[in-house]
Amino acid sequence: MSATRTPAAPVNWVTVAMFAATTAAAVVLVPWYGFAHGYRASEWVWFAAFLSVNELAITCGYHRLFAHSTYEARPVLRLVYLLLGAMALQNSALKWSADHRTHHRFIDDPDRDPYCARRGFWFSHIGWMLRNYPSGDTDLNTVRDLQRDPLVMWQQRHYLTIAIAMNVGVPLLIGWWSGDVAGMLLLVGVLRLVVSHHFTFFINSLAHMWGSQPYTEENTARDNFVLAFLTYGEGYHNFHHMFAHDYRNGVHLWQWDPSKWFIRAMQGLGLAYGLKRVPWFKIQRAILDAQFRITERQLARNPGRAQIENLRRRVAEEYEAFCRIVSTWTDVREQLANARRAVAERWERSTLQLRLRELEYELRFQRRRMRVLQAQLD
Ligand SMILES: [Zn+2]
Ligand SMILES: [Zn+2]
Repeated sequence: MSATRTPAAPVNWVTVAMFAATTAAAVVLVPWYGFAHGYRASEWVWFAAFLSVNELAITCGYHRLFAHSTYEARPVLRLVYLLLGAMALQNSALKWSADHRTHHRFIDDPDRDPYCARRGFWFSHIGWMLRNYPSGDTDLNTVRDLQRDPLVMWQQRHYLTIAIAMNVGVPLLIGWWSGDVAGMLLLVGVLRLVVSHHFTFFINSLAHMWGSQPYTEENTARDNFVLAFLTYGEGYHNFHHMFAHDYRNGVHLWQWDPSKWFIRAMQGLGLAYGLKRVPWFKIQRAILDAQFRITERQLARNPGRAQIENLRRRVAEEYEAFCRIVSTWTDVREQLANARRAVAERWERSTLQLRLRELEYELRFQRRRMRVLQAQLD
């Protein structure tokens, strides 16, 4: 019996050439020029500034605005995102968003997730772009809303011209103005592009492999502070895959999420509005749900342990209480929505709001009790 081998997907030579040329220039030409001529401090400042605005255009623009509609933005802000997003050379906003929506919809499915992390680090980081894999076919049916945005379609039509103008024209112009064209082309043109590429690619690779899963274990997405630091807040990827329509990725006050701060700053300037937030209760519910799953595994691992029956009973009681709180919260929310629709008396609405807050407190205390129980099982 002869084994049949599936032919490898055809190589995408344009992308391969682009990555090869920019990587070679970053690894060879950038250090060589540094040793031979040196870079000025101002050139490093330009490098850092363009790296930051490129990253923010991808995280706040391509990702949280165009792909997920987590808020709305005035045309001037959308235009800035589209120009700087093209500079990041990660495809047009339309195609980027289509691929990303497919990634969320079919996460971890090797045949349908375009950058499925289960296919390994190399594939999810960069390999998926180097060959024309069937899983990478862009489905534009997923972005019909964006096709109605004239600015998005303008970028789509003129993507190559805009990308070249932003990647070559802008560094040339600053270089000519500052008196060191080659240095600026190498730092702001090449090195900025290569670094920004890999920072973003980490979200598809490492953020699905390295870190914690506080909200859901149903997919590979992870929360990771180090990656959040490198990716302007996108490293809280476990939260993001659970609550993709929230404009925040680092949902807690102390979490490093410059993209969230930038969007809020844009709101302050009147350029962004309609920021979407998941109710606090739903976030706590997800965390507790994940805690129960971990506790279940801990209980199963220690069958012969002293007091195990007692602990098992207490966990079961907590779970019952959890289900009760969640279903009451859902009922009260519905009653509140009905009361709002019926323009009910103010006292009636405030009573319901008070009840919601009480349920939030109950959940908060339950999280503490669960932490104590988990510590006993460790
Ligand atoms: Zn992801
Ligand atoms: Zn996303």
